[in-house]
Amino acid sequence: MRTRPMVDRPLIGSPAPADAPVEGLARIGDLLVRGGVAVLSGAGLSTESGIPDYRGASGSLRRHTPMTYQEFVSDEAGRRRYWARSHVGWRTIARAQPNTGHRAVQALRASGRVCAVITQNVDGLHHAAGTTDAVELHGGLDRVICLGCRQLSPREELDQRLHAANGRLEAAGAVANPDGDVELAPELVDAFRVVPCLACGGVLKPDVVFFGENVPRARVDHCFELVDTANALLVLGSSLTVMSGLRFVRRAAKAGLPVAIVNHGPTRGDEHASIRVDLPLGHALTALARDLDPVAPSASEQSLLSD
Ligand code: NAD
Repeated sequence: MRTRPMVDRPLIGSPAPADAPVEGLARIGDLLVRGGVAVLSGAGLSTESGIPDYRGASGSLRRHTPMTYQEFVSDEAGRRRYWARSHVGWRTIARAQPNTGHRAVQALRASGRVCAVITQNVDGLHHAAGTTDAVELHGGLDRVICLGCRQLSPREELDQRLHAANGRLEAAGAVANPDGDVELAPELVDAFRVVPCLACGGVLKPDVVFFGENVPRARVDHCFELVDTANALLVLGSSLTVMSGLRFVRRAAKAGLPVAIVNHGPTRGDEHASIRVDLPLGHALTALARDLDPVAPSASEQSLLSD
């Protein structure tokens, strides 16, 4: 089984320029009218909620290297650093709200035009927008798993225990990374107390797929099924650099499904896409959802219209 690789393969530019925005959106609208569109979302959908992406214009990979699974399980000091930084950064993630893009995806899901949502994001914002059946391919930061007994528990509970053990740490002027951590002074990291699993005393890990770790096979197979039964695949805000997401684009293209991508800049899936639009997602998705399913006028608006 493939693991999420640490080292990126460079994007070798687009095979062709993106479609003209109006035409591109109209063609995506045609796919949505037909229905059965599976969505694959990435970090770009959440940048408008204040969570940075990895590889966009101001992507966080430019300033920090994410934790790997191997470092997390083998290095106690690395784990302490992770939890200290994550304890501070979690507040940013916990406060983040779905943006107009997440809400438009939910409107399209509710109207049945979108048949499934697979997200590579770990921020829980699709669920917060009401898309409660969105599949979190890489897990979610809102829960933790014990590496010993595999018990899941809410992140909020761990947050309270870490707070009791360490107080509130402050990181001046810090920008939270997409993994929900921040840069923190070494002396704060060294003094940080990590807490164990309440059930068995084991090591706690956020329930997300770290780099170098496998996505559970059953979850991958479920996502393949969702793609296999769709009429089209719509990629939103992902560079598709990581095979974990790219494999669904390849699967759809191999089956002859139309693939549409809305993203700032090139992606590793461009060669498979028949529609490519370079627009901010909040704007593009709101326009699509509004044009397809205009909101019925309210009673007061109706009375104004009939006056
Ligand atoms: P990525 O950072 O590789 O690519 C994001 C893409 O979105 C970039 O090409 C960027 O130009 C584009 N983009 C950014 N803002 C946009 C906007 N408003 N409108 C249109 N396009 C926009 O992200 P990825 O492909 O999802 O891969 C990153 C991996 O890291 C994911 O698998 C995920 O597990 C993790 N991650 C998660 C989050 C999160 O949960 N919010 C954030 C960053 C990374």
